Amino acid sequence: MGAPVGRFAPTPSGRMHLGNVFAALIGWLSVKSKGGSLVLRMEDLDTQRTSEEFAEALRQDLKWLGLDWDSETPPQSRRSKVYDRYFDLLADQGLLYPCYCTRSQLHSVNAPHLSDGTYVYAGTCRNLTEAQRNAFDRAPAFRVKVPDKEMVVEDLCQGTYRQNLAAQCGDFVVRRADGVYVYQLAVTVDDGLAGVTEVVRGMDLLGSAPRQMYLQELFDFSHPVYGHVPMLIAPDGRRLSKRDKDMDLGFLQQNTTAEKLLGFLAYTSGIIDAPEAVSAKELATEFAWENLKKTDICLDITQLFT
Ligand code: GLU
Repeated sequence: MGAPVGRFAPTPSGRMHLGNVFAALIGWLSVKSKGGSLVLRMEDLDTQRTSEEFAEALRQDLKWLGLDWDSETPPQSRRSKVYDRYFDLLADQGLLYPCYCTRSQLHSVNAPHLSDGTYVYAGTCRNLTEAQRNAFDRAPAFRVKVPDKEMVVEDLCQGTYRQNLAAQCGDFVVRRADGVYVYQLAVTVDDGLAGVTEVVRGMDLLGSAPRQMYLQELFDFSHPVYGHVPMLIAPDGRRLSKRDKDMDLGFLQQNTTAEKLLGFLAYTSGIIDAPEAVSAKELATEFAWENLKKTDICLDITQLFT
């Protein structure tokens, strides 16, 4: 196998927070420690929440951290023509159907999804007749039919993860009623066309990997290797998120150095033995997946400032 190709796939809806930094760091280390390259892609499908200003801030934040990339592919908001081709491929295989369910119907009728708290789609619109479809006066979303098949993810961090698509996920939406493609389709197409061989991201997306692997098979892309890294948790049990302004890079850049921050993250997550200031390049020589913690990591950020 050649050198790995990894990717950063941030959503430019705010400054990077520590959870993003951590996932980006591990993705960079995993690829760079094996002499590979990285692609940067802005995941801006949600044009209401994202902006080029945030995208530029993300690029600057990655540079400040010393996490460089080799190329940047066009943002998702400009790629709907490309996604159209793959949508058509699913349609040609007879795997798509229009779904007219409203949000409230979806939540009342369907059982919770086992992996991420969303629902398992019960197939309400799968077998509607042409006449039933015509009776709706609204535009449909489109769902892809899933088989009764267990997908197996051999994760670099989480070990073996199994999900039966029919039982634990159900037919899933690939294009919304307003015509916007959903994350699952866009990410599969983008990673596939960019030749990505290694996908490293937060543990919250582990449940998405089987859907993406299924689409990869339908689109004739190879499966990448996955590594789903633990979530960072504040001492009070909250998951760090974009709402934690005190944890975003705007604040951190004023109050610490990139090397101190990286050393703190690397130490807290098990990569190095002491909380010393260290550059990303130096960490690449020490990185090993075996040393990385596998479950939620509690991060007491005050330790960084003492
Ligand atoms: N854009 C997603 C995020 O910022 C990441 C998607 C992925 O890595 O597959 O959370």
